[in-house]
Amino acid sequence: MTRTAPRLADAMKILVVEDEVKAAEFVRKALTSGVCHRGDEALAQALENSYDAIVLDIMLPGRDGLSVLRVLRERGNQTPVLLLSARSHLNERVEGLNAGADDYLPKPFALEELTARVKALCRRGCESR
Ligand code: CA
Repeated sequence: MTRTAPRLADAMKILVVEDEVKAAEFVRKALTSGVCHRGDEALAQALENSYDAIVLDIMLPGRDGLSVLRVLRERGNQTPVLLLSARSHLNERVEGLNAGADDYLPKPFALEELTARVKALCRRGCESR
């Protein structure tokens, strides 16, 4: 039996924002998502397109993930956001949740956990619409 990474339904539109290209590619394949490597570009894409969820790294070139998240929420964008961070500091987690994140996953993470969390976010997002 071959073991394949869990996939989300193709109908879901996810944006993955991660500057580590290998990690981004790994996640993009599992989520069949769009990918972006810079915070400023991520913000522009998130404001221009509608996504079912955004997987957002905190440490990014251009603009950090927390700042991207704050601007989205200020503009009334309620797309579910899952924050990723290599630093599992409590402060950062709290700051992220206060800035309007829906979930948080410290790196390194298991792909199964990421996909399960993104699915849960999409479900919650659909129910609240
Ligand atoms: Ca990063």
